[in-house]
Amino acid sequence: MKKIVLDKGFIELVDKLGDDLTPVNAARVSFDGFSESFSDKDKKLSKYLIKHKHFSPFRHQHCMFIIKAPEFVMRQWYKHVVGIETTSTHPTKDHAWNEISGRYVPYEDFYEPSDFRKQSNDNKQASEGLIDDQKMAKRLWQEAQNTSISNYEKMLDLGMAKEQARSILPLTVYTKVWWTASFQSIMNFIELRDEATSQIEIQEYAKALKEIMMETFPETSKIWFEVYNQ
Ligand SMILES: Cc1cc2nc3c(=O)[nH]c(=O)nc-3n(C[C@H](O)[C@H](O)[C@H](O)COP(=O)(O)OP(=O)(O)OC[C@H]3O[C@@H](n4cnc5c(N)ncnc54)[C@H](O)[C@@H]3O)c2cc1C
Repeated sequence: MKKIVLDKGFIELVDKLGDDLTPVNAARVSFDGFSESFSDKDKKLSKYLIKHKHFSPFRHQHCMFIIKAPEFVMRQWYKHVVGIETTSTHPTKDHAWNEISGRYVPYEDFYEPSDFRKQSNDNKQASEGLIDDQKMAKRLWQEAQNTSISNYEKMLDLGMAKEQARSILPLTVYTKVWWTASFQSIMNFIELRDEATSQIEIQEYAKALKEIMMETFPETSKIWFEVYNQ
């Protein structure tokens, strides 16, 4: 399942573990019970677990995604460090990330917004509405971006190492990562990033993720979003 996001990005679900019955059956192990098909009883139990923050059963459902996003979006995404593995003492236990390397592969795609937003007056980190001079904003943006990309390509032609040439690229450069995370962790991401104070571009990814989760774990996701008004 693949959702297109922004001008050249996407989120693709490449694998998953578990289904809507997984958390209720994980919870039922306490009294050695098991459900074969999702009934009203399972719906009630799911809701109870979600509402009362019994979250560990929701760490048995996992999703593996390939994400293509601009670097300035991924920098925010990287702050979500809790992945699938939470029990060992291995130093990388919380990380389920792998990323394309600009040391091996030259970068080709760059994000270009369709419109340019105004700085918000009451929220120092947010945007609000559009700036008046869209034409000038576009010109300045493209001028800076094109110079950077064209010099990068010229430096590669000169034979410069990719690892060094890439250091002049703008944060609009598209990167590609594999991200594996538990249902709980993905819901935490959606709660924080499909939210008005979050950056608009990452909101777009959170909304796409929300659709994927609704299609992948329809019962669990629906109840979760209802309980937390998302
Ligand atoms: C609108 C917005 C603005 C932001 N601005 C900034 C900013 O200016 N600078 C900046 O650096 N970051 C910023 N962030 C990132 C933010 O601080 C979090 O790092 C990010 O949202 C990841 O959230 P998380 O820690 O819940 O996710 P995860 O790392 O996936 O953690 C998931 C959950 O696990 C639990 N958990 C994780 N680690 C621990 C731990 N060590 N101890 C106990 N419990 C733990 C918590 O319950 C946590 O919610 C911003 C985020 C948002 C949404």
